[in-house]
Amino acid sequence: MERKKHLYQHYTWPELGEMVKTQPVVVLPIGSVEDHGPHLPLDTDNFLIWNICEEAAQRADGEILLLPLVPYGFESHHMDFPGTIDIHMDHLLNFVLDITKSVAHHGFKRILIADGHGSNMPILELVARRTILETNALCAAFIWPSLAIREIRAVRESERSGMSHACELETSVYLHLDGQRVQMEKAVKEMGMPKSEFVWSDLMDGSPVRMMDYWTRFSKSGVNGDPTLATAEKGRVVFGAVIEAFLRLVREFKTRPMGERTDYHRESWRGLSPA
Ligand SMILES: [Zn+2]
Repeated sequence: MERKKHLYQHYTWPELGEMVKTQPVVVLPIGSVEDHGPHLPLDTDNFLIWNICEEAAQRADGEILLLPLVPYGFESHHMDFPGTIDIHMDHLLNFVLDITKSVAHHGFKRILIADGHGSNMPILELVARRTILETNALCAAFIWPSLAIREIRAVRESERSGMSHACELETSVYLHLDGQRVQMEKAVKEMGMPKSEFVWSDLMDGSPVRMMDYWTRFSKSGVNGDPTLATAEKGRVVFGAVIEAFLRLVREFKTRPMGERTDYHRESWRGLSPA
């Protein structure tokens, strides 16, 4: 097997030291090993985010340097389902921060964390903030459906909560990437969260008030959404739109200006004031 130009770990250390000069965007994918209903494998988040990142990296013409996937996520609320692997939120924050700080230590200035699992996001936002505060790099985090909200809404058929987990969205993209591993005959629609004006779960339509309960309190199957509406064709459209947006994000983020900080304990601010 040949070396892949977009993979961080296919380079030697002298090569990687040189690569800092071109300042590619270093992308860290993270997913989960988590129940995804009776029809999708435990690898769903890992499989989707890795394929998204690798496809984007292959098409980014050297502008993405792709780190190995972090295969586990924060899952304490999913542990009633057999198979799920839970990383404590404190451990996950510090583990991912150790990765981004290592990358920044080697001189890379633009780091993107690409997430495949919703409950990682609040933790990854803090990782991105701390990376900025504690290194010379800029770091941002996103979950993949957020990149293509308009295009996903255009193919969506389910009502609110239909795209939350093991749902119309995740099932469609899995069907597109590898339909043989999806057991569609076992897919069930389940949207059992209490009806609310303020609190719900939907990847495309976040609720104004944020709350996440233990999952078996509102889902018997592990599904929150409507996977019965999933199709490989929807998955193809969504995957394509996410990749296009990812490439636009990388090009923008790579050249995003970094302003100068000013310490007003040392500099006079009075010249700035009209008085
Ligand atoms: Zn998922």
